Amino acid sequence: MPNIIVIGSLNADLVVRAPRFPAPGETISGEDLAIIPGGKGANQAVAAARQGISIAMVGRVGNDSFGPTLTQNLKENDVDTAHVSIDASATGTAIIVVDTDGQNSIVLSPGANGKVIPTDVDAVSFQDVDALLLQLEIPLETVMHGASLARQNGLRVILNPAPARQLPDSLLADVDILVPNESELQLLSGQSVTDIDSAKSAAHALLEKDVKTIIVTLGANGALLVTDTQVTHVPTFKIDVVDTTAAGDAFIGGLAAALLKGKPLEEAVRYGNASGALAATKFGAQPSLPTADEVEHLMSLRAP
Ligand code: ADP
Repeated sequence: MPNIIVIGSLNADLVVRAPRFPAPGETISGEDLAIIPGGKGANQAVAAARQGISIAMVGRVGNDSFGPTLTQNLKENDVDTAHVSIDASATGTAIIVVDTDGQNSIVLSPGANGKVIPTDVDAVSFQDVDALLLQLEIPLETVMHGASLARQNGLRVILNPAPARQLPDSLLADVDILVPNESELQLLSGQSVTDIDSAKSAAHALLEKDVKTIIVTLGANGALLVTDTQVTHVPTFKIDVVDTTAAGDAFIGGLAAALLKGKPLEEAVRYGNASGALAATKFGAQPSLPTADEVEHLMSLRAP
């Protein structure tokens, strides 16, 4: 039985480094194409699996050559793929150009991720599962159905509201831990979020919607933990940034794994910070996600 189920996206990230972004109508030469497994759902599944947690993924890939590559990669990371099905459409892809400053320009094609429907969730047993991890790269009705079923079955529901969009109050009420970044928090709360103080106030506004716990990721500033009774800023680790792709996914995988290992909330946030910081030291999505040994090593070496 898995400890965690992830219902979410799998993407092939097609990444080319180029000297600059092409202008409309222009063709420029870049470096060799890198095809890297990504997608927020699959990233978070692998992030938690590398922390030694038993994970099952629910999602869809397309009927093309990327599909088996992504599924195989999950299997190699010990993620159960029995509920990753093959859809007639194309596999979700992110076409990414990275310039010499490390800036990204991305076109996302949801493909099969857009076909994950509520009945895909009905096929999965939630018995003896501890937590459900959700993001917003699949249809909202499927996210809502998953959250509601998980709540009925006593699972802890963790929602990463990315990419940012408005959400119905009924979904927020089914969420135990909401993990937005600053821009997602701004959109959900309707309040401007520019620093730690404004993040505190925006998170409090969201607590009114019945979310139990909000953890705001703040990039190099770490994370902010907000509940009805607690507001704690947890700084992150100083690292040399190479590429922050999937840092947020690494944070969530690390956080969820630490909670399942019985760590208290604040310690789990510290674990998430270490995991996110390590992911930012390596290029790409899933290849950058750290192991439990790497996270524990960083935490033992350095404050905070
Ligand atoms: P997202 O990429 O989803 O916007 P963040 O940028 O907030 O998410 O990053 C998620 C987490 O990764 C942060 O809370 C932090 O722990 C870690 N992280 C991200 N960027 C850095 C950085 N420059 N230095 C150290 N840790 C970082």
